[in-house]
Amino acid sequence: MNPDPVILRHVAVHFDLMALRERLRVREGRDAEELEALVREATAIARPKAMYRLVFIDERGEDYIVVDGVRLTSRVLSVNVGEAQRVFAHMATCGTELDAWAHGLTDMIHQFWAEAIKEAALRSAARAASADLEARYRPGKLATMAPGSLMDWPITQQRPLFQILGDPEAAIGVRLTPSCLMVPNKSISGLRFPTETSFESCQLCPRAICENRRAPYDAELYERRYKAE
Ligand code: SF4
Repeated sequence: MNPDPVILRHVAVHFDLMALRERLRVREGRDAEELEALVREATAIARPKAMYRLVFIDERGEDYIVVDGVRLTSRVLSVNVGEAQRVFAHMATCGTELDAWAHGLTDMIHQFWAEAIKEAALRSAARAASADLEARYRPGKLATMAPGSLMDWPITQQRPLFQILGDPEAAIGVRLTPSCLMVPNKSISGLRFPTETSFESCQLCPRAICENRRAPYDAELYERRYKAE
């Protein structure tokens, strides 16, 4: 029997105004004052949240694993999980409160800044979930994969991931659109698993320009590590 999800509904958030100014290239003056006012509003409203769930692997094959009776189909995931017995389904979000606030903004620059503020809130939620997981389960080194980051594990695999987590909309306000995008848009989900080998989906992703790239593209990695015999 797999445990119930751990749900973090009260994540503390502190926005780093100077980091936001640097990221958004906002200089001294009126823009800086407007950004500061937005951050003040966001601080009062933001309720970033996260959840995760420990699940044990029931079955595994060349290009799938089954956890909690739910099949996740990906050759890369199956190889990366290796002989691990347990994985963690996880999700974090900036929260519906901040998302609704951002949707209410009418100035286009403010809307753009609000996306960066939402991202900062999302990072707070993700960090809180990682710290909680570490304290609760002491999992050792973990790798992460997210549905939609590779062709091998397409975005439609969000559906089984949501199923494993139970009811993310009721728990933390994250829902899936019919095309499997998450709402609020500043939400992340995925699977974390113990590993001895470093892995980032970016290693298999040829996208030329991506400001979120975490590892260089390795054009031969798929052939080397994941090609079926
Ligand atoms: S390079 Fe960018 S798009 Fe590709 S997997 Fe990494 S973060 Fe995602």
